[in-house]
Amino acid sequence: MKYDIAIIGGGLAGLSLSIDLKKRGYTVAVVEKGNYPRHKVCGEYISMESYNYLQRICPALTAHKLPVIRNFKLTSGNNKEFTTSLDLGGFGISRYLLEDMLFNEAEKLGVVFMLNTKAQDISSDGKEHVVKTNKGDISASLLCNATGRKSNLKTPNKTETSNGVNYVGIKYHVKLKRNADLIEIHNFPGGYCGISNIEEDKACLCYIVNSKNLNRVNNSIPELEKTWLFKNKNLQKIFTTAEFVFTEPVTVSGINFLIKEPVTDDAFFLGDAAGSMAPIVGNGMSMGLRSAWVLANNIDQYLAGKITKPELAANYKSFWEKEFSSRIKLSRYLQKLSEYSFLTKLTIGLFNVFPALANGVIKQTHGKPF
Ligand SMILES: Cc1cc2nc3c(=O)[nH]c(=O)nc-3n(C[C@H](O)[C@H](O)[C@H](O)COP(=O)(O)OP(=O)(O)OC[C@H]3O[C@@H](n4cnc5c(N)ncnc54)[C@H](O)[C@@H]3O)c2cc1C
Repeated sequence: MKYDIAIIGGGLAGLSLSIDLKKRGYTVAVVEKGNYPRHKVCGEYISMESYNYLQRICPALTAHKLPVIRNFKLTSGNNKEFTTSLDLGGFGISRYLLEDMLFNEAEKLGVVFMLNTKAQDISSDGKEHVVKTNKGDISASLLCNATGRKSNLKTPNKTETSNGVNYVGIKYHVKLKRNADLIEIHNFPGGYCGISNIEEDKACLCYIVNSKNLNRVNNSIPELEKTWLFKNKNLQKIFTTAEFVFTEPVTVSGINFLIKEPVTDDAFFLGDAAGSMAPIVGNGMSMGLRSAWVLANNIDQYLAGKITKPELAANYKSFWEKEFSSRIKLSRYLQKLSEYSFLTKLTIGLFNVFPALANGVIKQTHGKPF
């Protein structure tokens, strides 16, 4: 069978796109190398800009009592802190629950899933795209790549090369008494750790650190936490008083923040596959969701014969660049800054004197609700 759309990668971006397109009446297949539900490294804070969209594509979301997050605190290792309210705010939900809900919704609507299936190559004659997988081939009129930041799939959309700096991400779920409407970012030498609440009164404790700091402690995560994270007393307190829901953390390595191309001759890229944002701005998931929404709108117009394929490609490319390129650049700058305690301390000092400056930066990190 030839599908209207094949999507490689069933993470947040791929799942959302599959539901959106299926609801518009198209045949959709998703090739996903893993299965659901599963934990993923993520701070699990979603900007409120995406709430309405998520609710539209996944009504089951409303059945869950999710913490709404309205306040933000930033601390540095030397006990400096800055707090402010967030203009738009966000909500907390684990990736485990969110992706499982989206997967169930997509299956219910009739999206075809090839799970535990790795896409190995793609080929195209312009009209038909073939995805070669370890379990056979599928073909489609349009191909979307939502394989995330790192994929075995060789794609021609890389426009930047890594500067060699790589980060490691580490996540736990914990229980501890804290303000459910507060997201905290605690800086330590080489990185920062966020904590914010998710469903069932749990909190997501997630940090990102320059991989060099992990190498310096022989790749031992407990040593890394004692040596670097505990330099910030707030983190020491959290790590020593929280009840850990799972003791072995979920980890991911080789993180970098590159801008790629959202469109090639063969495929449309969305989510982290098109470019990834440093988590300091807490908005990568909304970037994936917004790109799914805009791409679905444009694909719908194309398949309904209202726009041509070059117009579809041009519309999506210009949306992507306008909406995300400068945000990714800002996130990279903030990421670099946040690795150094003295710069974080300086930033906190500036924000305390000029709170409007902080609010201006926060505004730059998200878009309008959609
Ligand atoms: C430490 C850290 C903290 C973060 N915190 C936040 C936060 O608090 N808020 C926020 O909004 N964002 C956050 N982000 C960013 C967010 O996690 C990403 O932007 C988001 O996961 C992107 O979703 P995606 O669907 O594009 O990619 P992914 O979730 O990576 O999904 C890609 C999918 O493709 C599949 N895949 C890959 N290759 C193949 C293949 N060849 N064949 C088949 N399947 C394949 C994978 O199995 C995966 O399921 C954080 C990121 C990091 C690293």
